[in-house]
Amino acid sequence: MSPFDHPEGELTRRSFLGTTAAAAWGLGPAAEGLAASGTDQALLIDCHVHLKHGDAAGTEWSAESIVELMDDVGIARSIVFAMKTTTVRSIEMAAAAVEKYPDRLIPFLYGLPSYEIALLPVVEQAVTQKGFRGIKLHVGECTLADYVIDPLLRLAGTFPIPCLVDVAGNAAVATRLAKTFPQTPFWFAHMGRYNSTDAVMTDQFIRLAEEFDNVWLDLSAVGLPAKIGEAVARVGARRLVWGTDGPYKNPTAPEYARAQLDNVRKLDISDADKGLILGGNVARLLNLN
Ligand SMILES: [Zn+2]
Repeated sequence: MSPFDHPEGELTRRSFLGTTAAAAWGLGPAAEGLAASGTDQALLIDCHVHLKHGDAAGTEWSAESIVELMDDVGIARSIVFAMKTTTVRSIEMAAAAVEKYPDRLIPFLYGLPSYEIALLPVVEQAVTQKGFRGIKLHVGECTLADYVIDPLLRLAGTFPIPCLVDVAGNAAVATRLAKTFPQTPFWFAHMGRYNSTDAVMTDQFIRLAEEFDNVWLDLSAVGLPAKIGEAVARVGARRLVWGTDGPYKNPTAPEYARAQLDNVRKLDISDADKGLILGGNVARLLNLN
């Protein structure tokens, strides 16, 4: 039994967010119905979309171009965030995008601990007053050492809001986080590492999700798509979340997104499980309707 499936008594700040415990973890009938309706009818929700990438060029995508791509591919909603910038700027960028498309885009902020600002009040304000629903962390731009990131991860657990964390394959760090912050939902990006073909490392992340109820695996840019089916069998569909890590023009943005979609659609699993992975889980966890 997971505190995230049975949240009563587990949440500490539900009144702070002005929501009920059940709502906070999305146990409402709408999310379940969405998941159960099969992949053809189920709403697709992309859990990993960049307003600004972490690549060398810091490639930016406008809200308009992202929604145009979503329309092309049939994606109902996307979690959006900016990287390679400050936390404050990431909040400005995602807030502006969501203001244009409140029914399509879901804002996450970029959690980048810094000595320039007191980060925690900024994050708290974004979550409680600006509707931010989660945090993106990336080891490429900040260390995941405990003295740097632990205050932020502890804060995330008090709401609670999910942390989409790219640990670049470091299973030891991921294990420490899952163990240290049982109230914080971790979505580990790319099932461990971006486009990695390291089967041993990928297995470590599947095992981590088996062991810890607060661990989800983000299926964007997974280098060994066959491992996704293995993860469904071992972890269960309820703790896998589909995403694209796009937009990428590889070769075109819609083709890239459809290839990411095929990684799940082509699996030999039930339509109900596909529905959970492709959107039902995020809808439930974020209480979307
Ligand atoms: Zn990414």
